[in-house]
Amino acid sequence: MSNVVIPGLVPGIQTSADAMDPGHEARDDKPPLFEARDISISFGGIRAVDGVSFDVKGGEIFAIVGPNGAGKSTIFNLISRIYEPTGGRLLFQGTDITNVAPHTIAGRGIARTFQNIELFEHATVLDNLLIGRHCRSRPNIFSELLFTSGVRQEELRHRTAVEEIIDFLDLANYREQRISGLPYGVRKVVELARALCAEPKLLLLDEPASGLNTEETEEVAFWIEDIKSDLGITVIMIEHDMSLVSAVSDRVLALNNGRTLALGTPQEVQSNPAVIEAYLGSEAE
Ligand code: ADP
Ligand code: MG
Repeated sequence: MSNVVIPGLVPGIQTSADAMDPGHEARDDKPPLFEARDISISFGGIRAVDGVSFDVKGGEIFAIVGPNGAGKSTIFNLISRIYEPTGGRLLFQGTDITNVAPHTIAGRGIARTFQNIELFEHATVLDNLLIGRHCRSRPNIFSELLFTSGVRQEELRHRTAVEEIIDFLDLANYREQRISGLPYGVRKVVELARALCAEPKLLLLDEPASGLNTEETEEVAFWIEDIKSDLGITVIMIEHDMSLVSAVSDRVLALNNGRTLALGTPQEVQSNPAVIEAYLGSEAE
């Protein structure tokens, strides 16, 4: 992946936009798209996430790294509201979402993929993607029974949105195939597509490159860049592949044992002594 060079994202290199805008620090005044304030959760006696704070600005690609068991996926489960935090607040677009119902999260504009792909194995790619549109449906049982033109129009709108994502991620050849018959790498892309079908403002990717070969990982890097630049979606990505993290991330949060080790540019985080020690320690296990 070292051959993936994304202009403007190379740490330490000032972009021309920064150079022309000496007051660019002031942009930090605008409220972040997402904010985690001092969030914690315990399972039994284990503090899986222990007082973690970070914010993600609109348009950013923000990575979360750390050894296995560091608390990364738990943070996604807290943001998705699958888990109830024992402390702290979550804010999205300036609104406190700490206590909102989990089923409203996608409708608010937060979509995710799972570390272990979660798709309907016996359904086709197209059907899985249409299910991804669920949060964008306006359920109305009476008009559905009558099958009014409004319902037909909505159905058309969903199909059009799904076809756009199929084109965007190059999935046309797999449209009618069942998930169970697809190679692992394609399933990962279908899961990404399903999350995009929800039209998120914030996309949470849990290890998008795990289990992929070098070529597939490079493809994922380009897609993440396109999701940001073409679709204008902000991304939080959990990832072990540090070359992918360095290639696409604006900032990185490193965790260990549920706590923040470092937060900064990919270069800053990779050269942080506490991060190096945590990684060496996990390799020695
Ligand atoms: P990772 O950084 O590898 O994604 P996780 O967030 O999955 O780590 O897990 C962090 C810690 O929390 C681990 O010790 C894990 O066993 C524990 N944990 C996560 N979810 C649960 C749960 N539902 N019940 C009990 N322990 C959990
Ligand atoms: Mg995980």
